[in-house]
Amino acid sequence: MTEKEQLLDRIKKGPVAVIECYEEIPCDPCRTSCPKKAITFNGPIYSLPCIHLEKCTGCGLCVAICPGQAIFVIDGSFSSNEGLVSIPYEFLPLPEEGDIVDLTDRSGTVISMGKIHKVRTGKAFDHTAVVTLRVPEKLLMEVRGFKPKEKTEAMGDDVVVCRCEEITLGEIRQAILDGASTVDGVKRATRAGKGLCQGRTCRYIIENIIAREIKKPVGEIGYPSVRPPARVVDIKALASIGEDEQYE
Ligand code: SF4
Ligand code: SF4
Repeated sequence: MTEKEQLLDRIKKGPVAVIECYEEIPCDPCRTSCPKKAITFNGPIYSLPCIHLEKCTGCGLCVAICPGQAIFVIDGSFSSNEGLVSIPYEFLPLPEEGDIVDLTDRSGTVISMGKIHKVRTGKAFDHTAVVTLRVPEKLLMEVRGFKPKEKTEAMGDDVVVCRCEEITLGEIRQAILDGASTVDGVKRATRAGKGLCQGRTCRYIIENIIAREIKKPVGEIGYPSVRPPARVVDIKALASIGEDEQYE
């Protein structure tokens, strides 16, 4: 196996530090902070650090300590379609667990939507927060930061979007996070749009929520399948309708 294959294989098994330090500078707090001695240097202090995958427990101490913000802890064992990426975060206010955020790549470009899984701070972390993000599994090696959503987007998870089935914005966002990218997908995951009005009120709102969350034009989200509202009718009532009458 190549080094990269070994790393990807290790990530699938649980949290591990991924070092993206490419400049040869005299710096080694990553090495001295690791309680497991999982980081070493093959040469003088200005050479590049090496991670010993078998020793690392993914504790995250080195993430907070590295002054270059060049270390991340990646965990591919979280679930079948999501993983965890822990990053150093030096802004205030700190995010809160459960916040929906925009995920960014190394250049700061927004590439997906995610959720704050955990926020760790304190003396052990040298007062730098380590924020753990829930990210789509296929983006584990791409996501390296996040942007808090605008206040109006970050709030309001309890707002009811589908009144017939009482489905909230938070439930719809979670369905999108879990992979739904069409109105029918959200419907299957949450029942939004399955009620009496068959999505007459909420389907356009859901289309817009999906478009905003997955960064696609609303016209590309796709039209949902709908059925006319129906209710049980007694056969006698149908039989009694005359040729010129209409049943109401
Ligand atoms: S995550 Fe913890 S165990 Fe792994 S290299 Fe960093 S400090 Fe060491
Ligand atoms: S502490 Fe960070 S910047 Fe310094 S050598 Fe280690 S990984 Fe590189």
